[in-house]
Parts: sequence; C-alpha cells; structure tokens
Amino acid sequence: MSSPKSNRATCARSCRPKPRRRAKNGRLSKPTSRQRSCRASLIGTSSRLMACLEPLLTACRQHPSFHAFFPCASSYPGILGELYSATLSGACFNWICSPAVTELETIVLDWLAKILGLPEVFLSTGPTRGGGVIQGSASEAVLTAMVAAREKYLRETVPEGLEEQERQDLLAKKRSRMVALGSSGAHSSTKKAAIILGLRFETIAVTAEDGYALSGKRLGEKLAELRGRGLEPFFLTVTLGTTDVCAVDDFGGVAEVLETHKREREGGEVWVHVDAAYAGSALVCPEVQTATDVRVLEKFHSFDMNMHKWLLTNFDASCLFVRDRSWFVKALTINQAVYNNEASEGGLVTDYREWQIPLGRRFRSLKIWFVLRTYGVKGLQEYIRRGIKFGESFADMLRSRPELFEILTGPSFALVVFRMVGVDQSDEEKNKLTKALCEKINTGGKMWVTPTVLDGRFAIRFMTGVRTTEKKHIDAAFELIVRYAEETQSS
Ligand SMILES: *Cc1c(COP(=O)(O)O)cnc(C)c1O
Repeated sequence: MSSPKSNRATCARSCRPKPRRRAKNGRLSKPTSRQRSCRASLIGTSSRLMACLEPLLTACRQHPSFHAFFPCASSYPGILGELYSATLSGACFNWICSPAVTELETIVLDWLAKILGLPEVFLSTGPTRGGGVIQGSASEAVLTAMVAAREKYLRETVPEGLEEQERQDLLAKKRSRMVALGSSGAHSSTKKAAIILGLRFETIAVTAEDGYALSGKRLGEKLAELRGRGLEPFFLTVTLGTTDVCAVDDFGGVAEVLETHKREREGGEVWVHVDAAYAGSALVCPEVQTATDVRVLEKFHSFDMNMHKWLLTNFDASCLFVRDRSWFVKALTINQAVYNNEASEGGLVTDYREWQIPLGRRFRSLKIWFVLRTYGVKGLQEYIRRGIKFGESFADMLRSRPELFEILTGPSFALVVFRMVGVDQSDEEKNKLTKALCEKINTGGKMWVTPTVLDGRFAIRFMTGVRTTEKKHIDAAFELIVRYAEETQSS
C-alpha cells in the first residue's frame, strides 16, 4: 500500500455508480474504458492489499496443514451468504423491522435441529415451544443461557407475595449462594460467563480414568459437597467434544443424578447447557447421533454448536437451541416505548432481541441457508466423515511406530492426542521429548499443531478437520513428524 491516497483518488473518480446500459437486444453494453480501468484498479488495490497482509497470515486456518486448535470454517456458499448479508445490512432486532431475517432464521434453525437429530423439544414447532437463535459465539451462547437460567432459578425459588424490600434482600442472598458448574474438561467460557454475571463457578475434576468425561458419579459427589456448604447449584455445562481431547460427557448419567437432585429439593432445578461448539457438527451423521445418545438431550435445557467451526459456514454462526423459549424472553425482555408494535404485542411473531444480549443483529441465517442448500445433508455428512477418517488414518500411522509415539486419547471427532515415548522413560522424560517435538513442528513452518497437558502429561493435539486437507497432507505431515521425532530422540 505504497500510496493509499492516490489509489483512493483514482477510485473516487472512476467508481461513481454509473450503471451499464442495456443494449437494445437486452445484453449489457460493453463496459466503458473508465469502468474497465476502475475494475483494474480495484483488482490492483486488492492484490497490493493481499501482498501487505500475506506476511501476517501465518495462522491461516484454511491451510491444509493447519492441524492446530479446531477448524474455523470457510466455504464458497458461506462467503456468498456473508456478502448478501453485508449488502442487506440492518439492525434486524424485531419482526416488524425485519420479517424475512426473523423468519428465515427460525426456518433454517429448525432444519438444522432436524439434521443434527436433536430432540423435538428444540424445534420452534415442538411440544415445549422451544426453538433456535443464531449467536455470535459459543461464549455468547453460554452467557445467554446462564442469564436465563439464573432468572428461571430465582423465579422458582423465591416465594411470591413478599414485600419488595424483603424480596430484594432474599434475591441478593440467593445470588450470593448460586453456583455454576462445569467439568475440568469444559471450555473456559462457562467460567467466564459466571465471572461476567458475578456468580460463583466451581469445577468438577475429571481425569484419564473417566476418559476426561463428566460422569453422573462425579456430579453427584459435587452436588452433595455443595449442599453441605449451603450453596445452590443452578447451572451445569456438559460438553459434547471437549476442547482438549473431544471427550463426550455421560449425558445419561448426568440426567439421572439431576433427576434425583430435583426430587430432593423443592423447585430450582439445575439448568443443563450442552456445549457442542465443535463436535456438534458431526451430529449430521446418524452414526454419531446414535453413539452420543442424542435422545437424552431432551432432558436438558439448551444446546449450542458452532457451524463456523466444522460445518462449512463462515464465522460467525453459533446456533443456540432452547427447550422453552419463554425462559429467554422472560429474562431478556426490556420494554421500551420505541419497540412497541402491534405484531409483537399480538404474540404471534418472534422478536429475536428477546433471545439475546445485544439489540441489533445481522442477517446470519442467509449463510446457513446457502450452505445447507448447496451441500445438502449428504454433502455435509461426506465432509465430516472425511475428517473423521483422516483422524483414524493418522492414529493408525502413529500406532505403526510404537517405539516413537503413544496415543493418549482418540481418534475422536477428527482429533488425536499423542506424545513421544522412548524405552523405559519416565513421564518427565516423555514430557521433555514431546515438548521438543512440538516446538520443532511449529517452528518448522510446514504445519501447525497445538500442545496440551493431560494429568501432567505434555501432549500434542493433531486435528484433521480442515476443508482443504487431503490424505496426501496427512501422509506428508506424518512423515515429517517421524523425521522430527527421530531427530529429537537422537539429540
Ligand atoms: C471453541 C469452543 C468454544 C468457544 O467458542 P467461541 O464460539 O469462540 O466462543 C466453547 N466450547 C467448546 C467446546 C469449544 O470447542
């Protein structure tokens, strides 16, 4: 960008909207030389811009050798959807000012819920008046769910008919005792939501023995402990695909323990939020729906997955479903005269401003519509199965070199977690080797992986879900990792 000023001047001169005329035969007339030069100048500007950005793009998540973290999706239909959304820019907060934005969102999220095999309670047409809403991120989704859960809990546990002062005192006392819970494998966003809301957060430890998944037993122990301390658990995040190792919590066990807990207390059940930010995408495959026991989710209160991670939709598209939409509406509706209108008061329309923290919102359902219509369910399934298969092949390759590598978890949802081994080595030595290998991989500039630590064991996460990754990239990656590992061992 050597001379931004002159570029701007050229563009301002030649880019004034001057529609191309239609010739008599209906075809567009040839572009004028000015229009041609404007286009050339735009292309020139954009390639100069890319040249400036390129050295900074070290972490391109669309690169086939990006094996770090989780994928961040991008696809041609996703990009087109974003473009249309930008074109139709607006602050589409209620139905009356944006009926199409509202209604398409309801429709595509019902489609998605059905594709993922979610129980009917999460459909807008379901028996419990649930439904879906698009949020910016999984963190925003868990915060929104927690706000609704707090409101619901207080409504259920603070008796009616108190004097206002007395009621306020009781509410304050209760808030100081309320606890949000998540396992040690749960994403930090649950803790962050509790911090934002000024509530307590406690972790339920899970270990290798549990497969890093939360079990009913561990939850039961924690609930008993909290009760003993006079605290009130009101919110729990369970995870489908934890960030570290893609573990899936024991939904059946958790549901059972909470059923008992509810019976023993009067009112004030624990709201369960299912965080399926990454691995939720894999539910497009019926075999994954069966394996993860997706029917049990109907006992829970909210479910969230990020289409922008593993389902070919550009950032941002976090799809949050709730079993009863009135829980959101009761917690998040603020009346202000300017938003009053007959449609809303009639109760026949959805005003998504009442389902989220911000007021305004974008036309994000368009990109989901583009993606679903373009790929179709089969296309989405093929894409997910390919990523899972690559993870399995990578794990097979690791197993073929037991003198070098040991798999700690997986392959699970296109993620393998492994470490380096040697002959008769202690954990400490293995940690040292694995750390050195990880550093070699990431400074080599050919690919990127993420390190993690599991019960004191240093490990490398290798993810195979990027859209552009092919089998040849996995093979090349393994070959390189073997070379680095041999060098590490002999140095
Ligand atoms: C990535 C991730 C999140 C956070 O996602 P954002 O949309 O960036 O907030 C939360 N939970 C899990 C399990 C994740 O993998």
